[in-house]
Amino acid sequence: MPDNPNAEIIAIGTELLLGEITDTNSVFMARQLRDIGVNIYFMTTVGDNLGRITDAMSAALDRAEIVITTGGLGPTVDDMTRQAVADAVDRPLVFHQSLYDGIAERFRGFGSKMTENNRQQAYLPEAAILVENPVGTAPAFIVESNRGVVISLPGVPREMKFLMTEAVLPYLLRKYQLGIIVARILRTAGIGESSLDDHIGKEILSETNPSVGLAAHHGSVDIRVTAKAESSEEAAHMLDQMQARLEARIGEHIYGTDHATLEDIVWQQVEKHRLRVHVIEAGLPGVISASWGDDSESLSSTQYEDPYQLYNHYSVDAAEVSLREFAIDIAKRDRQTRGTDASIVVLSYPDLDENADIEQGSAIAICTEWNLRYRVYGFGTGSHLAREWLSRWGLANLWRMLRERYRD
Ligand code: ATP
Ligand code: MG
Repeated sequence: MPDNPNAEIIAIGTELLLGEITDTNSVFMARQLRDIGVNIYFMTTVGDNLGRITDAMSAALDRAEIVITTGGLGPTVDDMTRQAVADAVDRPLVFHQSLYDGIAERFRGFGSKMTENNRQQAYLPEAAILVENPVGTAPAFIVESNRGVVISLPGVPREMKFLMTEAVLPYLLRKYQLGIIVARILRTAGIGESSLDDHIGKEILSETNPSVGLAAHHGSVDIRVTAKAESSEEAAHMLDQMQARLEARIGEHIYGTDHATLEDIVWQQVEKHRLRVHVIEAGLPGVISASWGDDSESLSSTQYEDPYQLYNHYSVDAAEVSLREFAIDIAKRDRQTRGTDASIVVLSYPDLDENADIEQGSAIAICTEWNLRYRVYGFGTGSHLAREWLSRWGLANLWRMLRERYRD
């Protein structure tokens, strides 16, 4: 697909330069162009002077593919946009009888007499594309020249806005194959990138609009769905449809969209069901418990900087049991003695040096009344990575265990 085009806006009118009116038209146009991906590097304001308007257009045409003007299309002598465009693209102005008749018709409708001045508005640069203006008298037009495209719109904001959204944007979308690009992120937990890839399937992953891509972080994977359409409503509809297809395949792994975080979702569930959760963290204090923000009746934690303290507390010899066995055993015991709904144990020696007699790595165990899940990370990752993996795994699995229990 070609790069998006560059456009420039030229606001025409001496009133603007005198500070008598504010150039709100350029602001509106710039936003509209931005939304469809057209780049803007310059905006110019110029007074009602033929030579200067022509110069401004020439300079803009040297830099950009599209020049959009607003103002100076009226019937009076100070409305010179038509002539300036004709000069800038080196084409004569041509009289259009049908335009003239249309303007005359409208004047009859108003019950007022058309003056000879209004005849001016029936002239357009040669080979211009007429843009009908049902909300005013001044017709707008587009000139496709070898220097670039010039689009001239009236200055009256109501008319400019109408023509911009109804005519100019659709024209640009078509001509430059542009579109509004909207992305949605579906956040998953508890499933790896390659299984996710398998479950979603090649067919969906190779579609281009919407496109579906995976981005793996430590212990969680985001699915990024991107749609390109002519309007944001249409893009949203396309995203909804793709989301539904993805949910049919891997819905059980999706915990939220866009800004949803796993910690928020998990702890909200815990609060909602008034569960009591106790977390024991030895070696990596706060790895799970730091993710809940506020004080809560539901959650409590016990932390040990030094993992040996946990062994001592339970009078267990660290050399006798594996990390896994010990973490599981403590999680079970803790649940029973405290009567929690879930007890979580994180036991970690991530930074241990190779000569130590103890197993290097990390273990996490989650014990609920209805299930037990655990995981061991045997690598010497260092505490930074261990923290990330353990907290992701812990939250993802607690979330899945809650889902097993509460189907909401
Ligand atoms: P008309 O046929 O009404 O003369 P025109 O295309 O000649 O339309 P202008 O005469 O330049 O437009 O402006 C008409 C009115 O629109 C101005 O008096 C001003 O109130 C408003 N206007 C013009 N340009 C802008 C602008 N850039 N931003 C905001 N308002 C504008
Ligand atoms: Mg005018």
